Amino acid sequence: MKRNIQLARDTRFDLLVIGGGIQGATVCYKASQRGLRVLLLDKGDFCGLSSANSLKILHGGLRYLQTLGFRRMRDSIRSRREIMRFAPHLVKPLACIMPAYGHGLKGKEIMRLAMLLNDGISLDRNTGLPGDKYLPAGHSLSKKQCLAQVPGITGSGLHGASVWYDALANNTERLVLEYVLQASELGAMCLNYLGVEALVQSSGAGIRAEVVDQLTGECFKVEADNVINTAGAAFEDLLPVRDVNRIPVRWARGLNIVVRKTLFSKAAVALEEQAADEGRKRMLFMVPWRKKFTMIGTHYIEYDRELDLFPVDKKDIMALVDEINAIYPRADLGFEDVSFYHTGLLPMQDNSGRNVGDLPELSKESSIIDHGQQDGFAQYFSIKGIKYTTAPHVADKVLKRIKPVSGYTASIPTSKVPGQTKTQAQMNDYSGQKYAERASVIKPYIDAAPDWLDVDQTLTVGEVNYFIAEEMVQHLGDVIFRRTDLGTAQCPPADVLNNVNQILAKHFGWNEQRQTKELKLVLQRYAPLQTPPSWIRI
Ligand SMILES: Cc1cc2nc3c(=O)[nH]c(=O)nc-3n(C[C@H](O)[C@H](O)[C@H](O)COP(=O)(O)OP(=O)(O)OC[C@H]3O[C@@H](n4cnc5c(N)ncnc54)[C@H](O)[C@@H]3O)c2cc1C
Repeated sequence: MKRNIQLARDTRFDLLVIGGGIQGATVCYKASQRGLRVLLLDKGDFCGLSSANSLKILHGGLRYLQTLGFRRMRDSIRSRREIMRFAPHLVKPLACIMPAYGHGLKGKEIMRLAMLLNDGISLDRNTGLPGDKYLPAGHSLSKKQCLAQVPGITGSGLHGASVWYDALANNTERLVLEYVLQASELGAMCLNYLGVEALVQSSGAGIRAEVVDQLTGECFKVEADNVINTAGAAFEDLLPVRDVNRIPVRWARGLNIVVRKTLFSKAAVALEEQAADEGRKRMLFMVPWRKKFTMIGTHYIEYDRELDLFPVDKKDIMALVDEINAIYPRADLGFEDVSFYHTGLLPMQDNSGRNVGDLPELSKESSIIDHGQQDGFAQYFSIKGIKYTTAPHVADKVLKRIKPVSGYTASIPTSKVPGQTKTQAQMNDYSGQKYAERASVIKPYIDAAPDWLDVDQTLTVGEVNYFIAEEMVQHLGDVIFRRTDLGTAQCPPADVLNNVNQILAKHFGWNEQRQTKELKLVLQRYAPLQTPPSWIRI
């Protein structure tokens, strides 16, 4: 995958996709599969915003049963299965436990019925999945079993627990990248650090997008017959008519923290605050992650999207820490236990003003805005997405409305990744386990430069060379946060950051000043969790 801007300028595309988070990446991949000539542009790196900041659970929509949302549930189950089939090496089954108190909606009786319904509605959940990714049927735990698995919770009023299975995306960033890479292998042009500033509809010329290269400041235009805006919370910046009467979407900021503690090793645990008012209870998920971390969330507040999201204030992180300690005192978390945080914006349910307060109500479903119908701007669609999980389903829906005008039909390779066949030996070695079918492309780079960059032996020089040559890396942060796991749970050690920075500096010809700037950009992501280390002059 090469950053060939000139080719993008010279080509008329069937479809321009704006934004390379999970939504844009799935739209781009599926449109390429259908034979469309697609251009995907992202203002930053692929998967740089909300899609990298989720709790990483691929939900089957169990909670939609509360409102009898069977169709939404099926959409979630199908999308979850589709993602699991697409990249089985990047997902794994996740057991989820919810203790049952009382006899209400989350009480033992109703939850037992919910487990049965969930299993029935998701009978086909494992079709086409490798055996080790199968999601078992749900079941119940007795009070004693529940207290053994979730020690320290209140025993009074506890009737047991429900256990169901979802999937955990181990690395949401590489999952998005995998869609982007495979789309590009199918003929799509996917380019990062190119922001769309405006869209103009012109008769005969389709839609023209004004683009700014974020690396050089250069401005240019690209043309497409259809545009799908998947810019996440920035989608409103590209609405066709600046209608003064248009009511802007209200946004909630979601916040998770990552802590250096294993609270539960075998399952994610959902715990609800014990509040008198049934309707206003907060629920937190505590998800075991990697070997020694737990992700906990999600805490929502209403948020002005014009304000910066990063860095999150120490007081906001402490508010979540306090909330966790109140719901689960045994966690006994302090600020020093927090190693990372995830934050992003999600659309709120409506604009009526009903939801103001400390528990904003989020949109229930992703929506597609047809600007042809709404604003007279034909073949332009925006997606207001709410879930990582359902991105494939939403992509299918929006693509039904796309008309290829140019008559172009991409020659679609029959194998999933052209020229790659994995042998068992490859799957068992380092690159095979890490990159699955992509290993055969990466292995030659590793063989040519096998030196380790870290003492834990998780990254070689060859892999960084590969990321530069084939995965469009432009900044140090692209490697630290999105091509690898190095920095996604805690700040990597100084020598690792410096080692990677030096490889990039050599390739791009960065001077010392530029290298320091790259380091600062990475370290900013950990503010306010740690003060900048002494080895960097800020
Ligand atoms: C804290 C938190 C926890 C969550 N947990 C879960 C979970 O467990 N499971 C789940 O299914 N969902 C979860 N979600 C929801 C999920 O993360 C989001 O719904 C999803 O990632 C949104 O994806 P997206 O592609 O629409 O947006 P984004 O990932 O934000 O992508 C938008 C992209 O558009 C680009 N862009 C913006 N403007 C422009 C422009 N002008 N030109 C070009 N590119 C542009 C951006 O750079 C960005 O890369 C969570 C969300 C949050 C915030």
